[in-house]
Parts: sequence; C-alpha cells; structure tokens
Amino acid sequence: MTTGFQGIPAAIDLIHILDTIEVPIVFVRRDFVIACFNKAAADGLGLSAADVGRTCRDVSVLARLPRLEQQCRQVIADGVEWRADFRDGDRWFVVRISPCSIGDRPISGTVLTFTNVTAFRASTDQAIYEREFTKAILNTVADPLVVVSPDLRIQSGNRAFYTTFSVSRDETQGVPLDEVGNGAFAFRTLRAQFEEMLAGRHAFQPVEVEHVFPRKGQRTLILGAHPLSVPGHSQRRVLVTFQDITARKQAEAAKDLRSEKELRRSEAFLTEGQRLSLTGTFSWKVATDEITWSEQLYRIYEFEVGMPVTLELIRTRVHPEDVSLLEKMKMVDQARGGSNDFEWQYRLLMPDHSIKYMHAVAHATRDRDGQLEYIAAVQDVTVRRISEEALTRARTELAHVARATTLGTLTASIAHEVNQPLSGIITNASTCLRMLDADPPNVDGARETVRRTIRDADRASDVITRLRALFGRKSTTTESLDLNEATREVIALSLSELQGSGVILRADLGDDLPLVTGDRVQLQQVILNLLRNAADAMSGIDDRPKQLVIRTERVDDDGVCLSVQDAGVGFAPEDIDRMFDAFYTTKSGGMGIGLSVSRSIIERHRGRLWAARNDDQGATFAFSIPCAPDTKPRPAVIEPEHAMGKP
Ligand code: ADP
Repeated sequence: MTTGFQGIPAAIDLIHILDTIEVPIVFVRRDFVIACFNKAAADGLGLSAADVGRTCRDVSVLARLPRLEQQCRQVIADGVEWRADFRDGDRWFVVRISPCSIGDRPISGTVLTFTNVTAFRASTDQAIYEREFTKAILNTVADPLVVVSPDLRIQSGNRAFYTTFSVSRDETQGVPLDEVGNGAFAFRTLRAQFEEMLAGRHAFQPVEVEHVFPRKGQRTLILGAHPLSVPGHSQRRVLVTFQDITARKQAEAAKDLRSEKELRRSEAFLTEGQRLSLTGTFSWKVATDEITWSEQLYRIYEFEVGMPVTLELIRTRVHPEDVSLLEKMKMVDQARGGSNDFEWQYRLLMPDHSIKYMHAVAHATRDRDGQLEYIAAVQDVTVRRISEEALTRARTELAHVARATTLGTLTASIAHEVNQPLSGIITNASTCLRMLDADPPNVDGARETVRRTIRDADRASDVITRLRALFGRKSTTTESLDLNEATREVIALSLSELQGSGVILRADLGDDLPLVTGDRVQLQQVILNLLRNAADAMSGIDDRPKQLVIRTERVDDDGVCLSVQDAGVGFAPEDIDRMFDAFYTTKSGGMGIGLSVSRSIIERHRGRLWAARNDDQGATFAFSIPCAPDTKPRPAVIEPEHAMGKP
C-alpha cells in the first residue's frame, strides 16, 4: 500500500487502521491533489502509488465523479459533509465528501469515502420492479380494486377503480371510501362487518350494493373485502373489490321474465287445450284427501270455479246410477293398493236433467314426498256419444234399406216359397174333405192329409218367420251360430229366384266349421247380398253356364271364410276399391249400398270382406271372420258398471 499522509506527523497507526477498513478512502488536499488512500481504495478503485500527488482530475475513477472539485471546495468552505450516488460500471457507490482537519488547524482537505451499495441497489431495483409489475397486473383487472386503511380511507386503487368511479388518484388519497364517487355507498352500515373481519372473527360476507355512476347510471355491484397483512408488519390494510353484476342481473331478470312468460304461455295453451278438447284434470292426494280440479273441470260440472271440491259436491252431479270418479279411485286404491292406471266412464245428471257423458283416464303417481297421488284427465264425450249413437242408428237404417232393396228383387222367390206350401195345404185340405165325405169315411187317410196340411202350414210359417227376421227392423244381437245353417237359410229363400234367372248354384259347405259369434241376420244379409250381386253379374251372360259356387271353409284355426264365385262380367282392376264405396253402382236400378253395408257389418265382426277377379271369367267375393268373440287383451281398464246411453 502506498501511504504517507502529507502534513500529518506520526500517523502510522492511523494509516494501519484505515488499511483494515474495507471501504475505499481517499484523502484529497485543498489543492485537489490526492494526499493518500487506503488499501481498499487501491483494490476497489484501482488507485496506485503513482496517483499520490496527482490532481484528482488526472485519476480516471475520480475524474468520472461529476463536479467533484466543485463539491470538495464547497465542503471545505462550508465544513458540511456532502453525499452523492456514484455509478462506476455496474457498481453503485454512495460517495461521502467530508471536511478533513487535524487538531485545531483549519480544514486542510477532504476525505472521500466510497460505500459500495451495489447489492442494496439491486434489491431496491428488484422491489421497484416487483411493485410496478404488481401494479401493471392490477391495472389489467377489469373490476375495480382499492386498498384502504383499517379506518376505510383510500390508499391506492387500480386503474379500473379510478375510471369506474371517475375519480383521480390524488383526489381520493386518504379520503374515506364511503365518500368516493357521489358518496352513494352506505359503507357506514358495513363498518361493523369490516371491524369483525379485521378482528379476525368473521370473513367479510360479500354485499350487493347499488351505485349510480355519473356516466353509466345505476349499476349493481358485489362488494367484497379481504384483510391484507405483511408478515413482520403490524399495519393492516383491506383490499376492497367491486364486481359489476348488472349485466348478469339483467340477463337473469330477462330470463326470469322469459320463463315466466313461457310458463304463462304454456298455461294458456293448456287451458285453451282443455277448453277445446272439453277435458278437465283432477288430482287426489290419498294421504291428505286433497282434491284439485282444473278450471275446465269446474266448467264441465258447471260449478263455480275455485269452490272447494268434496265428494258430497261431486255426488250432486254424478248420475245416481253411476259411480263417481273419486269413488272409483278410492275403490281402486283399496283393491289394488294404488299405483295402477285405469279408465272410467260415468254420467253427470245436470240440474236441467240433461245428461253428460264422462270418460276419465286415471294415473297413479307419487308426489315429491313419495305420497300416492291420482291424476286424471276427464273428458266430456257427450257430443261424441250422441254422434256415435246417431251413426249407429244411421247404419242400422241403411242396413235395413239395403235389406228392403234386396227384398224387392226376391219377390218371385218369396212368392214361390210361400205359394208352394199354400197350394199343398189347399190340395191336402180338398183331399181330406173327399176322404171324410167317402162312405165309409177314410179317417186314417184324412188324418194323414191333415198331418201334411200342418207340415205345409209350418213350412209357410217358417218362410214368413225367416222373412220377418231378415227384413224386420231389429237391433243388433250377438249369438253363437252355425254359418252353414245361416247360409242354407239364405239359399232356401233365394233359390227359386236364382233358378228363375238360370243360375246353377253349387253349395260347397265345409263340414268341420266351428261356430261363430255374431249377428245372424246381419251375416245373412251379407250372404244374400253377395248371392244377389253374383246373379246380377251373370244376368246378361248367355255364352256359358251361369255357374255360382258358394263355399264355406275353416281358416287359420280360429276363423271361417265364405266365398261366392260367379262366372259373370267381372270387374276392372281399378274398380276393386270403389265397388265398396257407398252409392257406387253400375246397375240401372242399383243403389250401390250393398257392398258398403256388407263391409261395415263384417268389420264389426272383426273380419274382412274382399273381392278378386277369377282367372277365367267372373269374380269371387269373400269374407272371413274369427270364431271367438272379442277377447282382445285390454290394458288395466275397468268398464263402467252401468251401461251408458240410457239416461
Ligand atoms: P248395387 O248392387 O246396388 O250396385 P253393391 O254395393 O252391392 O250395390 O255393388 C256395387 C257395385 O259393385 C255393383 O254395381 C257392381 O258394379 C259391382 N259388383 C258387385 N258385385 C259384383 C260381382 N259379383 N261381379 C262384378 N261386379 C260386381
């Protein structure tokens, strides 16, 4: 080390002490010449022994210190220390220039100390960088954030806070939060919550607040608060957050409005649907006996809408012979322990003595609490019932007309059928008289002729009975019958008529035919109609035999088929369907209802009636019907105990 402190005698010890200090120290004389320096100055600032005695301006490290000479003079003049930051490459120093004097002598120079603060500066820079970085992040947050002191005075906010509330940093610094903006926040009411939170007793519960902004108008905000504390610091702060939920609230409100509108709309639809279909709904909670009716059901029963529904009230409307729906529900519930669907039909006897027909479909279900509840749709089917009855009547009338029409064409046959036994009776009666007049009277012969007379009278009576059965007005009856026997009766009635027209009839009746269930007269009407049509189709034929084959046979184990095959004119393929249309006829005196009535009769017997063209000439008309009565399985349906349609 270069030592030597000009003008300071016997300072050896002091110089050694200075060499132990790691801070570079340089002594500069009044004339700005380097007097001496310690070891740290040599190591740290690169001074060498040659620099002693040189002016600071000529020593590069010192020459880089701005205005050093001026400052040294100032310090010598004022006797007051001066400091400055000095950057040397990537090192930072705090340079202190202190006045230097020995004993009572006047100030003879300055002492320059260089404290290396590079590490400190680096950590400060890092801290500044972190702070700026955090600020930048906070400024990107779209929601307003503000840090307040425990007494709720604003300390700093993010950009969104200042822009949202239209305030500046300066004007809000230290201002109570509830004075922010137009002072609309009722923070005073939240103070208790803040205190609880700061005392660590409860977390802050976010609060919904309304605030009127200068430009944006009224907004809904969610205000939250979180305590901020830094380890090792007793001071606490609070981060207050604001979340603007106006758009969400508006969307929710719009959605609520929409769903309410939709609900109202579907309710209106339902009500209108119930009104149009004359269907009301009914619910019965088994456990509580709670009954609810829809408006339409009140209207059907003609009760004031909303009046309490009781069994007694219902009974004032239900036909005395019928069981009400509620009673039926109770019966079903007791019998089956609930959870079964069923249908029920009953009548209402209205105060003006008119009758309404009800058809109910009930469904057992469980409500939210698992309790059994019956729900039923009750339809007023009066109009349908009346039109069904009218339709049945019209069908019966039409069938009768069809039969009566056929009767006209059978006159000759009938006359023959009746005439034959009548002439037999007359002949026998005359013979009998002759036998009785003889001497001695031939009593045995007379007895025999009387017997024959009775037999002929019976035959005539049979013909009349059959005719009355076939052509009298009679409502539908179902019985078990032998189709062959019914066919033979029809043949007997029409045989002479057919023969008169030159028809050669062959009956090929199957002998293993099972009994069928149906209406004898109606089925005979169909057979008669098919025979008549076959004869008509052959009326103009003279180049071939008018062959007519009537055949019965068993089909598909459970059915019978009857076919009538002729050698007539046949029909065009395109007529196959319209022949069965009502009033379609190709005959001059025809009515065109025979096949249409026949088809509906066969369909009511759950059968099928069809036509086919024969390979050579003519056509075959046939029907098939099942033998067994209607035993189709039905869902859990309870038929009404009282026949409907009889007011
Ligand atoms: P109608 O006998 O009064 O004409 P139908 O309904 O019994 O009424 O018959 C309708 C039409 O079907 C007849 O006019 C005829 O054109 C056709 N038709 C019916 N049976 C036969 C048949 N066996 N052969 C050819 N055509 C037939």
